[in-house]
Amino acid sequence: MPRPLTATIHLDSMQHNLARARCCAPGTRVWAVVKANAYGHGLERGMRGFADADGLALIEPDNALRLRELGWTKPLLLLEGIFDGADAQLLVSHGIDSTVHSVEQIVLLEQARLSGPIDVHLKMNTGMNRLGFAPPAYAAAHARLRAIPAVRNITLMTHFANADELEHPRLTIREQVARFSSGARGIAGLRSLSNSGGVLHQALLARELANDWVRPGIMLYGGTPGGKSASEFGLRPTMTLASEIIGIQDIVAGDTVGYGSRFEAAEPARIGVVACGYADGYPRHAQQGTPVLVDGVATTLIGRVSMDMLTVDLTDVPGAHVGSRVTLWGAGLPIDTVAQAADTIGYELMCALAARVRVLEANLDSHG
Ligand SMILES: *Cc1c(COP(=O)(O)O)cnc(C)c1O
Repeated sequence: MPRPLTATIHLDSMQHNLARARCCAPGTRVWAVVKANAYGHGLERGMRGFADADGLALIEPDNALRLRELGWTKPLLLLEGIFDGADAQLLVSHGIDSTVHSVEQIVLLEQARLSGPIDVHLKMNTGMNRLGFAPPAYAAAHARLRAIPAVRNITLMTHFANADELEHPRLTIREQVARFSSGARGIAGLRSLSNSGGVLHQALLARELANDWVRPGIMLYGGTPGGKSASEFGLRPTMTLASEIIGIQDIVAGDTVGYGSRFEAAEPARIGVVACGYADGYPRHAQQGTPVLVDGVATTLIGRVSMDMLTVDLTDVPGAHVGSRVTLWGAGLPIDTVAQAADTIGYELMCALAARVRVLEANLDSHG
């Protein structure tokens, strides 16, 4: 018997969320972002779930090759660009597009003396201050890249720091777009600006956000980038982490539960032990009170999450028994709610799904 813990991936919801992204940004080409093992969903499942995307974007060059091997023939984009000269050759041999964010990467492309044409995204730093050329340096970088014979199309790109919040007190989308426009003035080329937050704000910023390509990630996986909840954005969960009750303890007032005896019963209580712990990707920092569903009934986490188990309060779930289904996140329990209770974001929980968790596929409808 396998351990009852499973992560069910809802490919139909991935498709649905991609269609939502298209609705938000009509007429715009979509890079579905599948970095980090498709946000923990599995690279190959990302490829199938987002088969309708115009391209797949990711970080890892080896995974770009893997997608080609798996039969993906549409565009691929490396979001951090290449890391060495050998990567430069891969761009040509496998038809992979690359971000260019630094002088060092331009030098790699110059020195590679590439035979075939490559398409690149030239990144501007408009305030994120991670990667990219400052607006005043952008035109020169563009010209230098243009002079490389193998370089064909150059798409103009930037990345938003606060796309989830239109009126961020430190740096707004509008401010970043204004810097982008000034740095890109007079330069022809397609434009790629928006992550999920930008896509979801596209309707409000239709005038400012001139995207030819958008790069949604988290929204495609049914998570919110912030602002409103995923369901308010019309997104569906794509990963349901579920397990079972494997043990029950009836305790009396004064008894404690688990490591550190963090939970102490004030009155008699019934405790359910769930086969899922931090070594599965459930956050150890989830607070007591984090919601958990047992047979579809909402209850809460109590005590400390341990490596292989966590404990829940069954006092008000009288029907619960060993074998009862437990939903940790996903259908019926937004991953963002769990993330919030652990002081993190849905992104991190998805990406941290551990390799030992058995992964299944199902349509969301068939799981209720
Ligand atoms: C990860 C990433 C995205 C997707 O961001 P989400 O917030 O998940 O939509 C878009 N663009 C770049 C450059 C990224 O690295």
